[in-house]
Parts: sequence; structure tokens; C-alpha cells
Amino acid sequence: MPVKGLGAVARAFHRPLCLEETAFRDPEPGELLVRMSATGVCHTDLHAVDGDWPVKPPLPFIPGHEGVGVIVKAGREVHGVKEGDRVGLPWLRTACGECEWCLTGWETLCPRAAYGGYTANGSFAEYALAPAAYVGHIPARLTDVEAAPILCAGVTTWKALKEAEVTAGQWVAISGVGGLGQMAVQYAVTMGLHVIAVDVSSEKLWRAKDLGAEITLNAREEDVARRVQSEVGGAHGVIVTAVSLTAFREAIAMTRRKGTCVLVGLPPGEFPVPLFDVVLKRLTIRGSLVGTREDLQEALSVSAESGVRSRIQTQPLETVNDALDQLRAGKVEGRIVLTMSQGSSVL
Ligand SMILES: [Zn+2]
Ligand SMILES: [Zn+2]
Repeated sequence: MPVKGLGAVARAFHRPLCLEETAFRDPEPGELLVRMSATGVCHTDLHAVDGDWPVKPPLPFIPGHEGVGVIVKAGREVHGVKEGDRVGLPWLRTACGECEWCLTGWETLCPRAAYGGYTANGSFAEYALAPAAYVGHIPARLTDVEAAPILCAGVTTWKALKEAEVTAGQWVAISGVGGLGQMAVQYAVTMGLHVIAVDVSSEKLWRAKDLGAEITLNAREEDVARRVQSEVGGAHGVIVTAVSLTAFREAIAMTRRKGTCVLVGLPPGEFPVPLFDVVLKRLTIRGSLVGTREDLQEALSVSAESGVRSRIQTQPLETVNDALDQLRAGKVEGRIVLTMSQGSSVL
């Protein structure tokens, strides 16, 4: 029997989401029906709602890909999770399991992947359906609200650090220490890395220092690449979460010989690669996109055990349009997590 609950539905691009009573069908084989209790709001949700990207989500749809809740019904052929378990619904909703990328542990690159809150309904609702094999398993030490941002912001930065191929004792520079960057600083510290934080906001740099960054540099006030090169000989790994082409240029210039520069931010436009530096210093420039199920489980475990947390403000699901407006206006310091009241009924 289907259940009904509140859903925040995008019916047209660039319009506020419609808060409406929505029916959620029974789970199919291999699928879960999850009663949501918290969901983070990511910039990607904004791009989905505004139809900004070349491949747009099919309307109508429910956004959201940082959802946490409890399984209320498991379909047949579900293994590894059961009713009553807490699970997380991430961006990578499912992948084919058969292509060369899925077979080699790169399911995030699967051409037949589906994305929560984009190509399928997501977590801005009191209930959501999700394929059981792709949900995150929430460790007991994380509350629902704490776990939500790890499902996208957390796993994205954790994966980016892995992609930087740095080892304990080396230097990593985090360019852009907003929501994502602050998580990257914390994960880097738990990995035993020396952290350099770069931003144009002195307030964010103070925060990064509090979180364990040893060197903080304001890109508005000084030549950050020259400082990084002269003070530590360049960073072994650089993670760019900033959405600015200038930050990309600076990031490559602060990378150490043989180092790796990982791009996570997606500013519009293209930028020329400084070939001379890349060739002569044997630099690797690499894009990184969320993370696999394995990366997600690692990010959740490390957060639970080491206290890595997003800076969170909570507000009710009913205020989702206000949350999106705050993001649009650049007013969100860490992460907004929407919470759901549990007053839903059976149809
Ligand atoms: Zn996201
Ligand atoms: Zn695949």
C-alpha cells in the first residue's frame, strides 16, 4: 500500500518548489522505502531546480541527495539492510554494475548511473525510494543531521583527498575553505597531512585555522602560489573547491613538482592549462566527482570516529525555498540541513 507524505516538487525550472502531498509507492525488488528525517541542501540541488546544466532533470521531480532516514519497508531481494536501519541516500543513486568503470571500482563514472534528486526523485520529502545496494549505512555515532552533509559534501572532499595521492606528513593546500573546504581541512588533518588553507575571506581562514590548518593565506592580499612555493616548496596535493578560474590558476602554480592538483569546483568557462609548468614539473591535474559506495562508507566512518563535521544550520523541510534562496545569495556558511516532522499517514 502506498504511503503519502510531504514532498518538495520541482514542476518548472527557476520556480519555487511546490510543497505538496505526494504518494510514495511500495518498494520494488531490491528497493527500499525510507522515511526521511534530515536532508542536506547542496549547490547541485540549486542547479537542478534552475535547470542550469546541459542535461536537465525530467520534470516534475523531487530534488535532494543528502538524505538520511529509516527504512520502513524493504522490497524483496534486499540484502544487507532491513526495516528499522538508518540509511543515507547519496548523489549516486545506482549504477549498471556491468560496465568497465563499475567493474573497476569507478561506478561514479558509469554512463548508465542514476542520480538522486536529479534523474530520479530525491530526499526533499518525508519519504523516498532508493535502491538498497547503493545506500550509505549510517554509523551509530552520527546523528541524522550530522550524517546528512557527509553524503555529498563529505564524500566529495574525502575522495578528492584520496585522489590527491598524498601521504601522512606531506603538505596539502585547500583552495576555498567554505562548506566543502572546511570538511577537506578536517579530513586532511585526520589523514596526518600538513594543511594550507587559501581563501579570500579572512573569516573563513580563521575558521580553517581553528580546524587545524597550519598555514592560512588570503589570496586577495598576497601572491599565494609564491608563498606556498617559498615556504614549503609547493604542496604535494592541492584541492580546489573554489568556484573561480583565478583559483584554478593559482592552484596549479602552488603545486609541488610531481604533485597533483584536484579540481572539485565547477566554475563556468574554460581556462588555459600552463603547459610549460605541467610538463616540466610533471604535474597531474585531475577532476574528482563525489565518491563510490566504498568512499562514502569511509567518509561516514572517519566522520563518526574522528569528529569531522560540517557546520550545520537546521530548518524544517517546509522552508526549503528559503534554504535555496539563501544558497543562491551565497549566505550559507556551512550546510543547511532540512528536517522532517513525522506526521505522515497511509493512503
Ligand atoms: Zn551535492
Ligand atoms: Zn556501469
